[in-house]
Amino acid sequence: MPELKNDTIKAELGRGTWKLLHTMMARFPENPSTSEKEALRNFIYLFSRLYPCGECATEFQTLLEKYPPQVSSRETASQWACAIHNIVNVRLEKEIFDCSLIADKYKCGCDDEKANEIDDFTID
Ligand code: FAD
Repeated sequence: MPELKNDTIKAELGRGTWKLLHTMMARFPENPSTSEKEALRNFIYLFSRLYPCGECATEFQTLLEKYPPQVSSRETASQWACAIHNIVNVRLEKEIFDCSLIADKYKCGCDDEKANEIDDFTID
């Protein structure tokens, strides 16, 4: 994957992608089947090869070697994604996110009517 030289595009892409990843984890089954676990693991590894910012993808692949995707449950996957995002945050000298707040920030919307009203869906 070629280097992405435009920093504005790189940051926008990053924000949107993190939103997608964390929301996917928030909606991942609490008790996934073997096939669902495999699908998430495969997605993450394919994503790390195809992410359209070459240097980000390379760094991410190295991270995955050290911290392989945790896919045994929604909670485990959400906490894994939060931790991996924080490792990227540290490298980029950004604030660390409190992972105990992850379920509040990225709503699942799958358990009841109220939770389906996702009102905070802006990319911040
Ligand atoms: P972002 O890091 O994009 O975060 C968006 C929002 O998510 C934050 O405002 C906050 O509300 C929330 N958030 C922050 N931390 C967490 C967390 N741990 N868990 C859950 N929510 C959180 N950019 C580079 O310049 N170099 C790289 O090597 C690079 N690698 C990347 C690798 C990946 C896999 C991805 C997805 C992005 C990468 N980026 C990289 C982009 C970078 O991580 C940021 O997305 C970008 O710099 C914009 O940063 P931001 O400050 O807007 O917040």
